[in-house]
Amino acid sequence: MEKKYILAIDQGTTSSRAIAFTQDGHAYASSQREISQIFPQPGWVEQDPIEIWNSVQNVIAGVLIEGKIHPEEIKAIGITNQRETTVLWDKVTGEPVYHAIVWQSKQSSKVADHWKAQEHEALVKAKTGLPIDSYFSATKIQWLFEQKPEIKGRAQKGELLFGTIDTWLLWNLTGGKVHKTDITNASRTMLFNIHDLTWDQELLDLFELPASLLPEVASNAEIFGYTDASDYLFSGQTIPIAGIAGDQQAALIGQGALKTGMIKNTYGTGAFILMNTGNKPIVSENGLITTIAYQMNGEVTYALEGSIFVAGSAIQWLRDGLELIENAAETKNYCEAVVDSDNLYVVPAFTGLGAPYWDQEARGAIFGITRGTNKAHFIRATVESLAYQTADVVKTMVHDANVPVTLLKADGGASKNDFLMQFQADILQTKVKRPAFLETTALGAAFLAGLTTGFWQSFDEIKTVYMNAETFEPQMPSATSENLYQGWQEAVEATMKFKHRPINN
Ligand code: ADP
Repeated sequence: MEKKYILAIDQGTTSSRAIAFTQDGHAYASSQREISQIFPQPGWVEQDPIEIWNSVQNVIAGVLIEGKIHPEEIKAIGITNQRETTVLWDKVTGEPVYHAIVWQSKQSSKVADHWKAQEHEALVKAKTGLPIDSYFSATKIQWLFEQKPEIKGRAQKGELLFGTIDTWLLWNLTGGKVHKTDITNASRTMLFNIHDLTWDQELLDLFELPASLLPEVASNAEIFGYTDASDYLFSGQTIPIAGIAGDQQAALIGQGALKTGMIKNTYGTGAFILMNTGNKPIVSENGLITTIAYQMNGEVTYALEGSIFVAGSAIQWLRDGLELIENAAETKNYCEAVVDSDNLYVVPAFTGLGAPYWDQEARGAIFGITRGTNKAHFIRATVESLAYQTADVVKTMVHDANVPVTLLKADGGASKNDFLMQFQADILQTKVKRPAFLETTALGAAFLAGLTTGFWQSFDEIKTVYMNAETFEPQMPSATSENLYQGWQEAVEATMKFKHRPINN
């Protein structure tokens, strides 16, 4: 049978998706399924690894049915995933020993604080490019070991395996035969040396984690393994799993940001901005993360990464918290109903401020309210805050990497808002390009698998996907743009004067 498709599996924080791509890069069939979030305590976020695996099998079956695809027609599989989320399982039975501890979960904050207090921060940053934070997998493993010494004991005896979600899925897809990860997922564990490109023994010793837990690290585009011949899911076909990357890196690839200086921003619940910095890891003086963008054909490419905690979730707040709108798409009409925000600034620092301010105690604020301020101004200022926060990170990247930015590639749910895209172009005084096809994460994973297996030779072959991309050119005079941005900076500065105080009753 002709090999017509690449199957991408996109296992995200809130849902699992599978998309079959055709030779010209178009999504031919897709299937999606939500996954449950478990909140055992405030600030903790966990998921059931078995449910994750079941949801992935479910969406694979969904794609095959929807597209009437025979597994034999699938050339290769690519995987992309929520990063950092940590699973430990029994290497014989495949049974997870605990829930998956999700990237946002704060349950390992004390572990991170302890390591920071030991003054390990400079060492960890030099080796991994990361600050010590509960975000990263190593703290989550350590937390689990502290909570459950019997798990630590089993790990020390070599009975357990660790994986981020890519590894967990790969292990299951291959019938428990392959325990590997890719270099981008490895680079988010806080255990991987991004210069030597190996697990770092000094860090493993420091954090008392046995090396036997860790998967073998591969590049992004190579054959990781084959689907299990005894698995009914693919009717016994052994299909190569030929590409893996963490979700933000996959989006960078799917956006075709394959040259030094290219930047993408995914405007989702939060926003993740990555800049391709070529073969040099750049150390940021302003709290950006240095990470691996991808490794293909033996060459490693690095990225600077900045994240915005509150992006689309500010729009959700307008809808669910303030009940000012009924749906997110409505915001565009409100934004366009007024000529400007009338000097109103909304700083949505709901959980503190990230790069380049790094103020955990800051809380949200609104500035410039007058008797004339109306609902449209308020909504517009909230939407504008996504663009201002993006500008903060992009300007920091440009400064740290010392490369000018000529184009911002946008995707994610909130990028559907034309007003936001235009305002972003105006505030950055840079072109913003949004592809018609927004599933860049899945496309990136598919591209890696297609490249490995010769389905595609280069990114140019799937460039047609971008033919319908919309480009937003800066229209605002630069003086107006600068003035508005200065107002934002003053608003942020004023926000940071007010500190969050827990109320003592
Ligand atoms: P995630 O992958 O983080 O779950 P998505 O990329 O699906 O997020 O984007 C969803 C977010 O985008 C939501 O927070 C929603 O409020 C916001 N959003 C969706 N459509 C629009 C729109 N037209 N304008 C502004 N924000 C939007």
